[in-house]
Amino acid sequence: MGDITSNDTAARPVVIGAGPAGLTAAYQLGKAGRTATVLEATEIVGGISQTAERDGWRFDIGGHRFFTKVKPVQNLWHEILPDEDFLLRPRMSRIFYKGKFYDYPLKAFNALGNLGIIEAVRCVLSYLWARLNPPKDQTTFEGFVAARFGWRLYRIFFKTYTEKVWGVPADGLQADFAAQRIKNLSLLSAIWNAVTPSRNQKDITSLIEEFEYPRHGPGMMWERCHELVLDQGSDVHFRQPVVKVRHADGNATHVVADAAEGLVEHACTDVVSSMPIPLLVQAMDPPAPEDVQLAAKSLQFRDFLTVALVVPEADGFPDNWIYIHAPEVEVGRVQNFGSWSPQMIPEPGKTCLGLEYFVNEGDELWGADDADLIAQGTQEMIRLGLLEEGRVEKGYVVRMPKAYPMYDATYKENVEILRRWLDENVANVHPVGRNGMHRYNNQDHSMYTAMLTVENIVTGSAHDVWEVNVEAEYHEELSENDE
Ligand SMILES: Cc1cc2nc3c(=O)[nH]c(=O)nc-3n(C[C@H](O)[C@H](O)[C@H](O)COP(=O)(O)OP(=O)(O)OC[C@H]3O[C@@H](n4cnc5c(N)ncnc54)[C@H](O)[C@@H]3O)c2cc1C
Repeated sequence: MGDITSNDTAARPVVIGAGPAGLTAAYQLGKAGRTATVLEATEIVGGISQTAERDGWRFDIGGHRFFTKVKPVQNLWHEILPDEDFLLRPRMSRIFYKGKFYDYPLKAFNALGNLGIIEAVRCVLSYLWARLNPPKDQTTFEGFVAARFGWRLYRIFFKTYTEKVWGVPADGLQADFAAQRIKNLSLLSAIWNAVTPSRNQKDITSLIEEFEYPRHGPGMMWERCHELVLDQGSDVHFRQPVVKVRHADGNATHVVADAAEGLVEHACTDVVSSMPIPLLVQAMDPPAPEDVQLAAKSLQFRDFLTVALVVPEADGFPDNWIYIHAPEVEVGRVQNFGSWSPQMIPEPGKTCLGLEYFVNEGDELWGADDADLIAQGTQEMIRLGLLEEGRVEKGYVVRMPKAYPMYDATYKENVEILRRWLDENVANVHPVGRNGMHRYNNQDHSMYTAMLTVENIVTGSAHDVWEVNVEAEYHEELSENDE
């Protein structure tokens, strides 16, 4: 590393990352009269919740429903973005399996009916078998789901997609994230719910059937928040990845970013960090001990790319997205961005389909030419019967590294090691957000952890942000995962 220049401002809070967590932190700090320096590695705000734009076409990285049970987060969304910029969208999504569409979240009778009487009977028998002989190891995703739905339904509706997302066999994944979403639901309770919808069930359903969505995609929220943060007097520096955090006597003193002009050092009072927690720990100067570095290196991520295909509107579908459970193609899910917001589509009579591929940075798909990916995506859609030949007018590719923190067998203890070391050695460094806490979350969790952290900094309160669980209440649906 070359010379380091100082940015010459007095020490103040430094926020790492201009995604939902980072910008929420900066905005809340600004409201409390504490201006901050925000350092962002890329040239765009919003992180995974950005709106990517190419030639006027807007793409969501995945599809971001704005939906939360956490009132302060809901209020903040509406404080940042005027009501007229929100659309209230109907939610529709289905699973495409063996040429048929299945309702998603899965509905017991629709699923069993679609499978046909013979397969439905097999599934029910397989479920009864699993009740009598439950899988021994239910700490894995596979064991957890098979115990609740039987092996046959597990293989049809859970295994293929989950393995596409995570790139490892489902028996190597932890049950945690399934448990978080599926909770106590089983085939039996799903059938029971279908026959006798309880009040609670109705409440859950109505909550998820509509969601809010900024008319230009999720990034619109963060573009506006960025403006507000600048108005408050904070600075946001783009293309300044944080590479070093200097610390002494139990606190961070300076954050060093790698800018075009060389390394720039920012004196800090506190650091709110939404950068991946393993990289944060590895950036510590003096360095963390070997065992802590090892825990950091062991944390894994899954990466993501979207192949966006422009097609005539008539070739789209009413769903926001469709899960592709066919193992013979690599695409995992297809978004119809026009179904999210017509204002994402700049040409009348057209729509844009976002084909999602779950990849590892550096693997064959990640490194493939855009033209080859567009050709592959087009061919897979034709093979599935979801598009006819000659319908794709143009295509784009958007890559998103570290889209998913991996929940492997050792992630929990590794996160715990990093968390404890940070607590004990750099008490003014506050991890927040998704990769910031290695938590498979939605925006509301990222924002809420940032909001509570700022409250801790400003008022001296002692919220334990590691205990925040915004999802407990509303993901009680028959689903493996929304993302
Ligand atoms: C496919 C998919 C679908 C999703 N659907 C939904 C949904 O429907 N609803 C919902 O609410 N959420 C959804 N999410 C989750 C949502 O995207 C995240 O919860 C949210 O973006 C996390 O915000 P964050 O600020 O914690 O992290 P990020 O969005 O990851 O932002 C972190 C920021 O930090 C920057 N950064 C990283 N390293 C450094 C560094 N060294 N120095 C400086 N900056 C750095 C990054 O460039 C980025 O801008 C989805 C996610 C995926 C992958």
